[in-house]
Amino acid sequence: MRNAATILIVEDDERIRNYMRTVLASCDYAVLETGNAKTALSIVASHNPDLVILDLGLPDRDGQELLSEMRQWSRVPVVVISARGLEKDKVTALDNGADDYITKPFGTDELLARIRAALRHGRQRNEGERTVFSGNGLVVDTERRIVRVDGQPIHLTQIEYKIVTLLCRNSGKVLTHDYMIREVWGPFSNCDTQLLRVNMANIRRKIEKDPTMPEYIATEIGVGYRMIEMD
Ligand code: CA
Repeated sequence: MRNAATILIVEDDERIRNYMRTVLASCDYAVLETGNAKTALSIVASHNPDLVILDLGLPDRDGQELLSEMRQWSRVPVVVISARGLEKDKVTALDNGADDYITKPFGTDELLARIRAALRHGRQRNEGERTVFSGNGLVVDTERRIVRVDGQPIHLTQIEYKIVTLLCRNSGKVLTHDYMIREVWGPFSNCDTQLLRVNMANIRRKIEKDPTMPEYIATEIGVGYRMIEMD
C-alpha cells in the first residue's frame, strides 16, 4: 500500500538527511529535501507537502524563525529535530507552532511514530473532530462522556476528564504544560504546573495499572505530557 503523503526534510547534516530519506522512501512516502531555510520556504510554498521535518540548526537561518514565518501562511504539520537536553528549544518550537519534536539521536521507530501522529493530526484538522478514542485497553468516548479501562468504567472529575480528552485529541503528540493549563483552566487562570501534576497523578492512579510505570500517558521531562497513539 502506498503512503501517498509527501514529506519535506529540512536538515543540513547530510548523513542524517540521507538516513531519513532512506527510511521514509522505504515506507513509500514521497520525499523532498533541502539543507537550508530559504529553499525550505519556497518548497513549502510551491509543493504544499503533507509534513515538514525541520532541523532547528540551519546554516542560513534559525529554524525557530523559519517556523514562525511559515506559520503565518501555512498549517502544514511540522516535526522539529532538536539536540538532546535543549528542553527550552522544544517548548519554544511548540509555542511557535510545531506539532512535535524528535531528539537527536533518534531511531527509525520513533521517527516513523512521530510522523504518523503528525500526519494524522494534519488530516484531523481538515476532517473535523473525532469522538471515540481507543488504544491498549483505554477507551474514551467524548460524545457519551465515558472513560473505560479494560471494559471497566472509570470515574474522573471534571478537570481530570478535560485533561484526558485533551490528550486523546492530540494522542501521540507532546503537549506543553502551559498549553494544557490554558486549554483546561482557561487563558486567565493562575493555575500552575503543580496543580497539573497533582491532577495527572490522580488520573494515573485511576487509569494506569502501575502509576509509576505509566503506559497511557508519558511524562516528557521539562516539556509536558504525551498520550500513546490512539485509534
Ligand atoms: Ca543542523
